[in-house]
Amino acid sequence: MAKVKPEFIDRVKKLGAFDISACYSCGNCTAICPLTNENYSFPRKLIRYSLLGIEEKITAAPDLWLCYYCGECSDSCPREADPGGLMMALRRWAIRQYSLGKIADLFYGRISSWVTWVVLTILATLGIIYFRNPHPETTKAVPLSFIGLDFLHNAGLVMGLFIAFFALVHIFIMVKSLTKNPTTPRRSPQKLLVGFIQVLINEVLLQKRFRDCEESERYLPHLALFWGFAGLFLATILVFGVDFFGFPEFLRPVAKVTGIIFGLVLIYGAGYFILLRLRRSNSYSQYSHPSDWLFLIWMFLAGLTGFILDIFKWLNLPWPTYIAFAVHLVIVFNLLVTAPFTKFAHALYRPLALWLAGEAQTSPQEEAS
Ligand code: SF4
Ligand code: SF4
Repeated sequence: MAKVKPEFIDRVKKLGAFDISACYSCGNCTAICPLTNENYSFPRKLIRYSLLGIEEKITAAPDLWLCYYCGECSDSCPREADPGGLMMALRRWAIRQYSLGKIADLFYGRISSWVTWVVLTILATLGIIYFRNPHPETTKAVPLSFIGLDFLHNAGLVMGLFIAFFALVHIFIMVKSLTKNPTTPRRSPQKLLVGFIQVLINEVLLQKRFRDCEESERYLPHLALFWGFAGLFLATILVFGVDFFGFPEFLRPVAKVTGIIFGLVLIYGAGYFILLRLRRSNSYSQYSHPSDWLFLIWMFLAGLTGFILDIFKWLNLPWPTYIAFAVHLVIVFNLLVTAPFTKFAHALYRPLALWLAGEAQTSPQEEAS
């Protein structure tokens, strides 16, 4: 039998669900939610679980990730209990629960998160200072004369293995939790494969449910955040492929153009959400946890420092180029190495939950038509 923990709600309130105790269970929020359905009915069910503190049922609920925080439920709650805020807070809590050794806790504590970010930044900076070339090219700006390809290759490899290990373990923990949910459908390998492709196209690449939930202006910036980051990653791989693996030279200008376009896209997406959270003009942006801010700020800075680096290089200013390169690398390191433990992880958990819940086959609008 599931354990009841009345103190649970106080922990979730610390993650942003301040008003949820006011809920009197009328069900209005579930009735109005555009993404709820007969298989996955939220947010009221999760409000009950949270108030009772039935943790196992919450970690086993894909419903957490089926919500895109449009805020419609919060706007229509007669008790102003902010059920959308609870869903967001539960996702923060779930990221901590799925984390190996509860490492993600470090990024959600008021003091521990700042200490961790400062330590990571210092470590990355020291790494660059130690491994840089002390005598780089000074007659023209050549970033790779300052930080060599071998170092970038080895550091990238170690970081990639680190991220892959934690991502896989976290996926395992999440899948184990979700399979405890009796409503999670059992499907044949063939159906799982089809579902996987549908999730990849509809939810990862096009983010259709986000559009259906959030007809307004947040859809495009959210898409921009994903595509901006993915495009910059691709551009980096291309440049690295040309320099290190001998990819054809014509890919260099392709990578350059790709980097500029997707860098702008990333800055637009991250900048939009930073402004939205600063304005606090709707229920979505009323409360921002520090983890929301840091995720957006690192994303924004990753795009911005990439541009600054390019501009200095184009102006042929060696030392400003090298310093911008170092700062860019520190930011990218912070963003990537923490990805399995921070808000970044939702990019993994949401598609996974949709896939296992069998919820990506059709969008709610398509079902209705
Ligand atoms: S959160 Fe508000 S709308 Fe939802 S069940 Fe509670 S009181 Fe009703
Ligand atoms: S925030 Fe939107 S998607 Fe999430 S539960 Fe509320 S109405 Fe549904």
